[in-house]
Order: sequence, then C-alpha cells, then structure tokens
Amino acid sequence: MVWEVTDKTTGDHIGLWYLDPFARPGKRSGAWATTYRSHETFDGNRTVLGSNNSNFIKGAPGEPVLVSWDDATTFFHEFGHALHYFSSNVDYPSLNGGVRDYTEFQSQLLERWLLTDEVINNFLVHHQTGEPIPAELVAKIKNAATFNQGFSTTEYLASALLDIKYHTMDPTGLDVDAFERQALESLNMPDELPMRHRSPHFGHIFSGEGYAAAYYGYMWAEVLTADAAEAFEQAPGGYYDKELAKKLVDHLFAPRNAVDPAEAYRAFRGRDARMEALMRDRGFPVPGE
Ligand SMILES: [Zn+2]
Repeated sequence: MVWEVTDKTTGDHIGLWYLDPFARPGKRSGAWATTYRSHETFDGNRTVLGSNNSNFIKGAPGEPVLVSWDDATTFFHEFGHALHYFSSNVDYPSLNGGVRDYTEFQSQLLERWLLTDEVINNFLVHHQTGEPIPAELVAKIKNAATFNQGFSTTEYLASALLDIKYHTMDPTGLDVDAFERQALESLNMPDELPMRHRSPHFGHIFSGEGYAAAYYGYMWAEVLTADAAEAFEQAPGGYYDKELAKKLVDHLFAPRNAVDPAEAYRAFRGRDARMEALMRDRGFPVPGE
C-alpha cells in the first residue's frame, strides 16, 4: 500500500511512503528501508519516494498476522530510517547521506517506542482476547535486554580498537598474528573471550573505506541512542513529549548531513552525548553512581 505523507502544520506534500510487508516468491529476504527519490530543492523541489519492506507471513484467511518480537523491533528500526528520509530539509542532494557512526542512530532510537505504554496498550494486544501484553512479560523482555552484554561489549570493543590500531600505523612487513596477540594483551583482553572478527577475516574494515577505522561506529550510534532515549525518559511527556520530539526532528532528523552531527546533537540535548547512558542501558555499573 502507498500513503501520502504531508506536513501536519502546513499541509504540504512531503512524499509517498510505500509499505511492502509480506513475503512472496522472488522477494529479497530480511527487512529494509530505501528511497527511490530523496528530498532536495537544488533542482526544484523534489519530494521523497521511500519504502519499508519486510517478509511477514500473511495469516490464513480470517487469521491475524503474527509477528515475532525481533521482527517487531526491526520493523520499528526500519521505520526510523524512513522517518529520517521523509524529514529531510536539505537543499543539496549530496547532503542526504550521513557519516558512518551516525546513520544507524535515528533508526536505533525508533526501536525504543515499541515498549512504550501507548504502543503496548494499542498494538501489542493478544490476537484472541484483545488484552495488552502482560506487564510480567514486558518486564522479562526488559530484563533480558542486558543478558550477556559483558561478553558482547568486550568482544566488539576488541575488534573496534584493533581496527583503529591497524589504520593508524605503518603496516609494512607486519606480522599480523604477533601484532594481534600483542595488541590484545595490551588491552588486557580476557583469555576466555575471542575477538568478534579476527584480523584475517575482518572484511568489514579492509574491503572498503566505509568502515576502515570506523568499526566503532555501531557502538557510538548506540551511545547516541541510549543518551537520546534517556532524554525522552526524563521529558515531562516521556517518549511522546511534543517539545522534545520537535527538537529531535529539527536537529537530528531534518538536517541529515547538512550540520555536523556533534553540533546537531548538542542542539538537541544541550550537551554532548555521554557514554554512561549506554553503560546503564547495558546493565553495567557506572563509576561514581
Ligand atoms: Zn538500520
């Protein structure tokens, strides 16, 4: 189905949003968001043509479509990318891109709305009884979110730090095996923990420029996400606080790559993002708290 997207205050046409939720033969697997045309005003006012795509299985006739928790999270995530496209107010087409450690932030943040009361009570309802998902189950989902974070964070960071080391040194005659061992030792890497990507198959950082010295970017996006989520949690209206939502759109969605992301974040939050938010989010003790 296709929806027309308009600006609620001015009534202006923003674009068309195409939702293609169901699996069918020949369709690519997984879920994604994409644009067929992006906003720009450089060559006349171009409106957005964007889509969200997933592979939900249609219910049998008369049966509802049931979606797993993971798929629901991904659906919100991909919709975050779409909101980012549709919010664009840049003039030049080249400014619709984004810097690497920032492109997943807007979509990761959108995942947080899934567990708000408004969504729980209106959408996360039992398909037969119409009852919202029980509070105990919501508590279990929240508790499970911090499971094994020590392992995955350390495993990830080892690869992220090695990536930076590789791209800030002279690699002439490098003995990769010895270098990796020595680097991990200098990080006090626990013996029990392997790297997420050992150097010889770390294709992410060696196959192109995109993630070279920027593998850390996934986690930096999560720092921004956790810190922005705390802003919403502390706002008077919570995740539905209009004033903060406007700041989010004005500073973090609409400018795309036209404003330095660090500056844009400061305009939204009044300060830089703090990594302590991510530590709380992952269930780690925060020094001094
Ligand atoms: Zn994404």
